[in-house]
Amino acid sequence: AQRLFDPLRQFAEKFTAIQAGFTAIERITDIFNEPIEIKDSLTVLPSIPNSSVKGKIKFERVWFAYKNDEFVLHDLDFTIHPGEKIALVGPTGAGKSSIIRLLCRLYEPSKGRILLDGIDIRELPQAELRKRLGVILQEGFLFAGDVKSNITLGETYSFAEIQQAAIDTNVDQFIEVLPQGYDTQLRERGTNLSGGQRQLLAFARAAIRQPAILVLDEATASLDVGTESSIQEALDRLLEGRTAIIIAHRLSTIRNVDRIFVLKQGRLIESGSHEELLEQKGLYASLYNLQMLGA
Ligand code: ADP
Repeated sequence: AQRLFDPLRQFAEKFTAIQAGFTAIERITDIFNEPIEIKDSLTVLPSIPNSSVKGKIKFERVWFAYKNDEFVLHDLDFTIHPGEKIALVGPTGAGKSSIIRLLCRLYEPSKGRILLDGIDIRELPQAELRKRLGVILQEGFLFAGDVKSNITLGETYSFAEIQQAAIDTNVDQFIEVLPQGYDTQLRERGTNLSGGQRQLLAFARAAIRQPAILVLDEATASLDVGTESSIQEALDRLLEGRTAIIIAHRLSTIRNVDRIFVLKQGRLIESGSHEELLEQKGLYASLYNLQMLGA
């Protein structure tokens, strides 16, 4: 029950509900403890075809406070290029989740703006934003229902599309051996699956939407040995050609990202590749050296 109060998990649940448009899985909204503050602007742009979305993200002098003027993000100003892989690093409370919440428009900046392929996300209809952004947090959030609807979240996809997403994410291998295959009922939170299987299913849910941008919370759960390489392979395939933001906990796993953003008390204090940051001998270098000593 304690996990219910894990803020990232709450966020995962909330985002799942938002992706589902509150239709398929209404009951999980019961456990939300924060209001969802997003509204579509009155001037809604026409639907933009998916293929035109490149996945460029721009934070333009973004400040953010949950309440009053207690800013938790200070003047963030950066561009993430299409296809670039970024890791967010920093101690608990540094602002990593808040950045993601703003990007998903669970909250709006107090000052500044966030652009997706040049468009202020406030001008994008929620449905458009949802289509472009795939969010995979820890094990994802599975609900009581069949495997199919856990992938589609109640949206309309053909069986061929569902199956393709499952094949692409190595999830079909285990779905096929389940008693009723894709129609197998999952228990609340997917407790009748292994941690690795839940993770793969969360990948399939993202893959079917073919988002230009993926947001991932680095898996912190200990995974069963049998699925670890399968997960890495599925993830590599999912990340290919997409912009990705990875919330990193263990510095050892993010050496291969293009750039690492180091946050401290809501400020972006360093950014660069793993090698560049080691050379700078700043916060990243000392955190990294500490983790290596402890390992
Ligand atoms: P991180 O993900 O890096 O651990 P967060 O973005 O969760 O950091 O938190 C940044 C700051 O915002 C922290 O000081 C945290 O206490 C505060 N914070 C996070 N969520 C809320 C909230 N819902 N209401 C008020 N303050 C919050």
